[in-house]
Amino acid sequence: MTSFPAQARRVRDSALSPQRRLYALRECTLHCAPYGFRATWHHLVVAARIPSRLTDDPDALVRAADELQRTRDVVLHRAQEYAALRHREKAAGRRTPRTPPPWNSWGWSGIAYCPDPEHHPTGPLVTVVRAVFHRYDAGVDVDRHCLACGTERCRPGRACPTCGVHPDGPAARWRASRIEERWQRAWRRELDDRPTPLGP
Ligand SMILES: [Zn+2]
Repeated sequence: MTSFPAQARRVRDSALSPQRRLYALRECTLHCAPYGFRATWHHLVVAARIPSRLTDDPDALVRAADELQRTRDVVLHRAQEYAALRHREKAAGRRTPRTPPPWNSWGWSGIAYCPDPEHHPTGPLVTVVRAVFHRYDAGVDVDRHCLACGTERCRPGRACPTCGVHPDGPAARWRASRIEERWQRAWRRELDDRPTPLGP
């Protein structure tokens, strides 16, 4: 797996076949998937309107890569800030971090992890990621409120009923019916919850 910037360049390279550009977008999503890979992929397909026949609108792939890029920039900045803080703490003799953010051990795939690929926040990825960081910094208790949307939790340890984000991250225990079938539809970009395009 090569780096995000190299894969993003491939997504934007109109000289490549749409299928190769799609696979490059998949690699980008593996690098940066705030909802987890499947829910992030579903979000991109819906938000960037990636058609099941890629030649109908190859620019959709670029829209998706742009959204991931904006999100990655915010996460990267945050990761650098955290690394600098740890560096200062170590220099001051503190061996273990005060309170490591929970998503640090999940990598970048799970800042707002959604176990159900079809149930995730509906706004731009970058807005959701910023909201999670903001609520975390403000000391919001993850057992009482969803860090992504602020909904009060009636049942701790469950996915947020409003936006689908699970407080346990990728380790969440979660079951759903027909999940593989629904995922395969998302992967093929055959979604029936999208508005039908107008005209012939
Ligand atoms: Zn929520």
